[in-house]
Amino acid sequence: MTYRAPVSEMLFALRHVAGLDATLGEALTLDDVRTILDEAARVADGVIAPLNRVGDRHGTPLTDGAITTAPGWREAYRTWTEGGWNGLSADPDHGGQGLPLLLNAACTEMWNAASIAFGLCPLLTAGGIEALAQHGSEDLKARYLGKLVSGEWTATMNLTEPQAGSDLALLRSRAEPVGDGRYRIVGAKIYITYGEHDLTDNIVHLVLARLKDAPAGTRGISLFLVPKILPDGSRNDLRCSGLEHKLGIHGSPTCSMAFGDAGGAIGWLIGEENRGLACMFTMMNSARLNVGLQGVGIAERATQASLTYARERRQGKAPGAQGPSAIVAHADVQRMLLTMKAYTAAARGICYLTAAALDAAKGPEGQGAHDRASLLTPVAKAFSTDIANEVTSLGVQVHGGMGFVEETGAAQHMRDARILGIYEGTNGIQAIDLVSRKLPLQGGATVRAQIASLRRVAEGLLKDADPAYGHLGARLRAGIESLDRATSFQLAALASNRPETALAGATPYLRLFGLVQGAACLAREARAARAALQAGETDPAHAGRIALARFFAENELTAASGLADSVIDGGGFTETAALALAG
Ligand SMILES: Cc1cc2nc3c(=O)[nH]c(=O)nc-3n(C[C@H](O)[C@H](O)[C@H](O)COP(=O)(O)OP(=O)(O)OC[C@H]3O[C@@H](n4cnc5c(N)ncnc54)[C@H](O)[C@@H]3O)c2cc1C
Repeated sequence: MTYRAPVSEMLFALRHVAGLDATLGEALTLDDVRTILDEAARVADGVIAPLNRVGDRHGTPLTDGAITTAPGWREAYRTWTEGGWNGLSADPDHGGQGLPLLLNAACTEMWNAASIAFGLCPLLTAGGIEALAQHGSEDLKARYLGKLVSGEWTATMNLTEPQAGSDLALLRSRAEPVGDGRYRIVGAKIYITYGEHDLTDNIVHLVLARLKDAPAGTRGISLFLVPKILPDGSRNDLRCSGLEHKLGIHGSPTCSMAFGDAGGAIGWLIGEENRGLACMFTMMNSARLNVGLQGVGIAERATQASLTYARERRQGKAPGAQGPSAIVAHADVQRMLLTMKAYTAAARGICYLTAAALDAAKGPEGQGAHDRASLLTPVAKAFSTDIANEVTSLGVQVHGGMGFVEETGAAQHMRDARILGIYEGTNGIQAIDLVSRKLPLQGGATVRAQIASLRRVAEGLLKDADPAYGHLGARLRAGIESLDRATSFQLAALASNRPETALAGATPYLRLFGLVQGAACLAREARAARAALQAGETDPAHAGRIALARFFAENELTAASGLADSVIDGGGFTETAALALAG
């Protein structure tokens, strides 16, 4: 079983959770969106998805500094770039199509559901495009943006060094001005995704390094563009010095990079000297959102595979059955499948909402939408990738023993998902970001406005008073009160200068936020589905949407009050952690 993009589910979430319709007009109609999604699904299902297993088995062998991607990958990459997918939401001035990020988010989900290892390459290129477009000189933009937007060249992010992972203040790579506007870069980087490959002729490395006499810490880091092939066609002084052997995403090369073995790789400054980290931060929102979408994609794929398997595999007799039942008839298997489907849809809703806020930030709403996107981004990244790990693990469980052997692909989903909570800022770092930087936005007004928007969803449900909702409205209202309670506690801890108290509860707080926000996304879909049924639509998917939102509220959202308690009462462990961990 491979993957089939759930286009109608995606479109429903785009419209009824993320407010797609407000952005439609003559330039982009609903029919256009449907056509784009259908075409993306054709490429994801038909071209990329079949390569997922091939990439896992073949890996990306390194021979004499060169990396070979798995059979079929080069052709698939060419098909994908020729379709214009790389530049879907890029600026038309640079050759992009200028479509909303929201639409690109749905496509990003598809590429990564088809193969995370494949989707990673354009994900890194997108980050490079953004950093360059926002901070690069006109000359650099003219030289590099067009080829990056078309996908003719790819980009990498060279941040991590052995001693500098989460803490980039510790990085040691050096840069020295040559005197003609160029710099010489010397240093070693690790874990560089697609640092070397055979998909394109050139690779544009974005490298963080320190200038001589730069201030210590993060205020002394600069960003450089360091191409593999220099503008005169010669090879730059950089190479892939090693390849990691990993738990998953075997189809994507994770490289150690050596810059400047022969005196210094030539690079050009992006942005101002010593402001490199600020340049990286401006692209962080969309890069982190894209990793969240990787989580949604792999969770969707694992759910589809599990559902198919559960309908075929026969074991035991469900109550009332005459002979052996398909395991999908057993309540415990149903619970697993519904949990998988509901978390996937909840995470999709959060990611799409975040993308919509990023789009809105470019319009009249401006700063307010930007702040909302900033608030939602760590939740989109960490919640979606945490649940990707849980959903893919449940996927193995649904398959029983067949999940633990490689044949069904369920094991690969779980292996591939494991990295998502680690790279692009670990999920622990996302929780810290949410609590210490995002809750205080606008003196707490941003998070308060978000909670108010959730309350409006709960009020709508309660007003509908539809028996099909079960306890959905009451559960959502209770979950929001738990989130409100925990938010007040965190804001008070920050205001009274007790950051250690706030940070101790950061991870359960992020989970609580994701759970409640995700439940509200499902509830919005349920209300839209109810309205459609009342308007005479007969699509059985509508009743399914109501049932899924109800399942999530009655079975998963029940954890909200416990999570709030952990945030508020659980932080005392920091005083006794050393004792408890001793011995
Ligand atoms: C497959 C793969 C691909 C990658 N691709 C890239 C890439 O393309 N470019 C790139 O630059 N990097 C890349 N990375 C690196 C990745 O971003 C880092 O691994 C990640 O940021 C974590 O850093 P670390 O591994 O040093 O872990 P550490 O920073 O040592 O963290 C270890 C643990 O400690 C926790 N921790 C650390 N600091 C704190 C703190 N202050 N407070 C609370 N907890 C903390 C972390 O959350 C984590 O749980 C990749 C890594 C992998 C494995």
